[in-house]
Amino acid sequence: MTYRILDAQALREWLAQRHDLSGRLGGAAADWDIREVSDGNLNTVFLVNGPAGALCCKQALPHVRVAPDWPMPLERALYESRYMQAVAPAVTGLMPELFAYDPDLFLLVMECLTEHEVLRSALIADQAAPGFSAVIGSYVARTVQATGWVSQPFETGAHLLEQFSGNTALTRITVDLILTDPYRVCDRNPEPEEGLRADVKALQTDQVLHQAVGRLQDRFLTARQALLHGDLHTGSIMLDGADVRVIDGEFATMGPIGFDCGLYLGNLALHLCAAPHKADAIRTEMLAFWQKFSEELRTGLRAGCGDMWALSGPATRPALIETFLSEILRDTAGFCGLEMIRRTVGFAQVADYGLCTTEQERLLARQKALQIGRTLIVESVSLRSFDSVLSLMGL
Ligand code: ADP
Ligand code: MG
Ligand code: MG
Ligand code: MG
Repeated sequence: MTYRILDAQALREWLAQRHDLSGRLGGAAADWDIREVSDGNLNTVFLVNGPAGALCCKQALPHVRVAPDWPMPLERALYESRYMQAVAPAVTGLMPELFAYDPDLFLLVMECLTEHEVLRSALIADQAAPGFSAVIGSYVARTVQATGWVSQPFETGAHLLEQFSGNTALTRITVDLILTDPYRVCDRNPEPEEGLRADVKALQTDQVLHQAVGRLQDRFLTARQALLHGDLHTGSIMLDGADVRVIDGEFATMGPIGFDCGLYLGNLALHLCAAPHKADAIRTEMLAFWQKFSEELRTGLRAGCGDMWALSGPATRPALIETFLSEILRDTAGFCGLEMIRRTVGFAQVADYGLCTTEQERLLARQKALQIGRTLIVESVSLRSFDSVLSLMGL
């Protein structure tokens, strides 16, 4: 069957033919309730409810969902399915289960998180049960252990490079939207509000900043340390109380481990700028993320490593691990800063700024994010502890 954009009725007919999937829904096709819930920039998502269960169906469109004149290859769905398959054994219970991938329709069918809410929305509504960041720290540590050269035989990395190096369309989005556009004049950048114009102009001419961004461009493009989620912001996490899940792995690519860490922390830091009264709670989350991530990775690497450290033993490996973690920390700080800046002035901004009650408050929140972001990027190379990352954020 050839590709076509599915509406609710076409999806119903397709599911009805797939007995492995319709069995999970139960009842007759006519009984299923199908609701579109797309809220991301790229794809269409339907939730299908039947008498016996529910399914989440995500289809790639041949263009950016929110910008129909911006073409986008369908293969991103293939990479998302590959990502889910590659990390699933390591992150059981932390990701929805993938039930099927249809290569003609570029359609993923996965476990439906019916009771879950997107973390960004939960944060904005001040309804996220504390403790979610430790789960995300564990998630990143486990994906690193399952896919990184540091813990796996080199054949694993070689295979993953082969599987994901073709995900160039989405990597191009990262290269443009995160690593380049905020620092140049570009049609994709929205017109800044009046009060922010001077700050935006400064980003385009700041040579110290551009040099530091250059280091991070180098890291992103050449440090193929592990399989990244690649889009680990608070909109790619859903939670229901203590049940925390990561979704939306279509940006997956081999890259620097600090990229996933930095994107996650950057989105918490953006929330902090918009809701400064939540500083204590956000500091606790950030710390819990880093402690869990670094401790789980440290413990795992002490117990065993890949070909990378084959000559190390109990006496020498701890030092290698600490050097490795220090490098991840510097990258984390840098990518955190990049995310803060691009989500403040770039193409895809964050809803968290809607928490500001006046225009003046929002302007100050944005300026604060730009200032913290710049400092993190420029200072990242000299950072030695996670405490110093927190203090650069005023925490
Ligand atoms: P995009 O790639 O377009 O950003 P996402 O994978 O982020 O798409 O999904 C968009 C929205 O669909 C999410 O914000 C969430 O509300 C909903 N969603 C995605 N996956 C699931 C799921 N497994 N169960 C329930 N809802 C989901
Ligand atoms: Mg998304
Ligand atoms: Mg709930
Ligand atoms: Mg996505």
